[in-house]
Amino acid sequence: MNGHLTIVGLGPGPENWVTPAATDAVGRADIILGYAPYVKRLTPRAGQVFEASDNREELVRAERALALAASGRRVAVVSGGDPGVFAMAAAVYEAVEKNPASANGVEIRVEPGVTAMLAAAARIGAPLGHDFCAISLSDNLKSWATIEKRLRLAAEADFVMALYNPASKARPQQIEQAFEILRTVLPSETIVVFARAVGRADEDVDVTTLIGAAEMACDMRTLVLVGSRATRSVQSGDGRAWVYTPRSERDR
Ligand code: SAH
Repeated sequence: MNGHLTIVGLGPGPENWVTPAATDAVGRADIILGYAPYVKRLTPRAGQVFEASDNREELVRAERALALAASGRRVAVVSGGDPGVFAMAAAVYEAVEKNPASANGVEIRVEPGVTAMLAAAARIGAPLGHDFCAISLSDNLKSWATIEKRLRLAAEADFVMALYNPASKARPQQIEQAFEILRTVLPSETIVVFARAVGRADEDVDVTTLIGAAEMACDMRTLVLVGSRATRSVQSGDGRAWVYTPRSERDR
């Protein structure tokens, strides 16, 4: 009997930002695994088993999901946002690479979700309208030296940057270190957006500059967008302020 393993993206929070395909995959699963806050967003149907675990156990969770699927079960692993963006899908393929036989007879599928940077961008306008990159500021899985290098080079290349995992209780100071690096390359008036808990009841989106960013609070539920030299603000007729990056660089 073939097992199924679907790695499902649940989006940043609201139910109506979850794709119908993701909802189907969750509904069909016998067992659902994931980081506890993501699993808690779901309501089990009769006969469904939920297994919540700690965030740091991604590879162990991926290996367990593969083992359950290989035994013929229908398994879903859930991630917030998109499962391929700093999340479980890569962990599953890492487990497959480590032990290819563990995936024998398992049908693997990835169901995409709305990643945090797209949700945050939509709230404030169109900051990702031109070239951009995404960088995780967490140095749990890479060195801080690598992060510094990527920040500096992305700023030099004039990408808009989406900074995931900007701070946590264990690393409250790193976002300010990141801004210090960016300030050595980018103009001080560069637009910075702090998008906290997008799609949740306590959502808060603030626009500032690279200089003003020093005053802003930021936690693990915040996504930080750093503009390029072209990113600007514009007011619509109703007085609302938006941030966007023009599609064309030709007129600059
Ligand atoms: N797979 C997820 C990202 C996991 S990394 C995705 O595609 O969105 C976790 C980081 O994502 C957080 O530290 C934060 O930077 C960002 N994030 C996730 N949900 C968010 C939300 N609702 N609002 C703002 N940022 C969010």
